[in-house]
Amino acid sequence: MRLRILIFFTLFFCKSILFSQTTIPNPTKNDFSETLNILASDSMEGRKPNTRGGNLTASYISSKMHSYKLKEYNNFEYCFQIFEIRQHTVKKTALEIKRKNYRTISLSPEKDFEVTPTENSIQKKQAEVVFASYGLSLPKEDYDDYKNVDIKNKIVVVLKGFPNDKDSTSATYKKFKNIFPEENDLEETKLKTAINKGAIALLIVEKENFKPENKENEVFHSLENSKSEAIPVFRISKKTAESLFSKTDIPLKNNLASTLSQKVKINFSIELKHDMLDAANVLGMIPGKDTTKTIIVGAHYDHLGIKNDSIYHGADDNASGTSGMLALAKNWSESKIKPQYNILFAAWTAEEMGLLGSEYFAQNLNLKNQKILLCINMDMISRSAPEDKAHRILSIGTQKETEYLKKIASESNAKLQNPFTLDLWETNGHSGSDYASFTAKGIPILTFFSGFHEDYHTPRDIASKVDLDKMQDVLFIVNNSLLKFIENQKN
Ligand SMILES: [Zn+2]
Repeated sequence: MRLRILIFFTLFFCKSILFSQTTIPNPTKNDFSETLNILASDSMEGRKPNTRGGNLTASYISSKMHSYKLKEYNNFEYCFQIFEIRQHTVKKTALEIKRKNYRTISLSPEKDFEVTPTENSIQKKQAEVVFASYGLSLPKEDYDDYKNVDIKNKIVVVLKGFPNDKDSTSATYKKFKNIFPEENDLEETKLKTAINKGAIALLIVEKENFKPENKENEVFHSLENSKSEAIPVFRISKKTAESLFSKTDIPLKNNLASTLSQKVKINFSIELKHDMLDAANVLGMIPGKDTTKTIIVGAHYDHLGIKNDSIYHGADDNASGTSGMLALAKNWSESKIKPQYNILFAAWTAEEMGLLGSEYFAQNLNLKNQKILLCINMDMISRSAPEDKAHRILSIGTQKETEYLKKIASESNAKLQNPFTLDLWETNGHSGSDYASFTAKGIPILTFFSGFHEDYHTPRDIASKVDLDKMQDVLFIVNNSLLKFIENQKN
């Protein structure tokens, strides 16, 4: 009997010493399925910020965090980090082309042009128009559309795409595709170049199949103190450009260069209405032994709300990540093990409005008295892309510079009974989810995503369609990566 007791105690002791940092149970379906169902239920009304459903969701998450005895981060009451979002509604847009000896042509926002406005109204502005081919300046590649082109205080007209982009066998195609694998990166670069060179607006001449979208009455959002240096971007079709700027049937590129050298002017204006909305991140923490260092485990809880009487439940996007984050919070807290570093469990809001919740948080971080070691992000972790028939593909993103995080995630995956086929990708230059608010601050990130599906951003993204088994395995990797990361930091 005594011997048995002794053995029991010895085992108990060894276990607690050996596994003092590793006994946090992996979340099981029981730990997250009920929460997921509640977040994606009708009563949460699609969890849009500043709506009844959005506020109810924040209260629900806060009550969960309190029940797990998480500490209020920064003493935020009820775990709410409240901030203001600026809502912009486009009221009226106008674009006019003035050419010497020609009558002024007013373009219609319904069929001739599309605009991406900036956050402030622009009263009628007139400026000279300059053509800059594809609008790219790539000194490393010895390529410059801005050689001898001055666009300061002017409107710069550029062509969509890059030279020779119709011929996928050409050397230029391969070169440009290699620099800009994605259309977004290319456009972003053109816009940044135009801004840096002092243009006041960018006019993109789109390809043949372009149909402009009327942006009047559209709504978009920003943070109150946003320091955006953006300029408006106008888009017109190739056909519109030809009718405006061409005289003969010589190629548009040559035509634009010659007509626009003869002092064409553009008038434009954008009228916006502004409203303020309240929003709240919900933040609960387990203090660590070393309170100067923090690891964030985050997911956005907001979704698209109600549109045309349909509730956008956002079960995968992102009741999955939010319920996963809460399940991890529960298990870490109930283990009663004090982690080496603070673990901050974060439910971000307004991701769908442009990563605003996480951006507000990151902008207001005081990095002088604390270091963020890692930010884990979970956004859509319960479904699979249609081509992933076996539901065994998982995307994990990290920065190019953080090879060690890829290794940690791969090793955690390998521990699964049925490991995923991992799509390990680099987040540099991407901004598809809240991880971007942290990469912008140079904080290492690990972001989890289980695949695009046809119910994405539709009212069909509902709880009955989520794959609880897949999600449980994703959370296994998240939990094991977190433990491994902490262990590695100490060594
Ligand atoms: Zn979304």
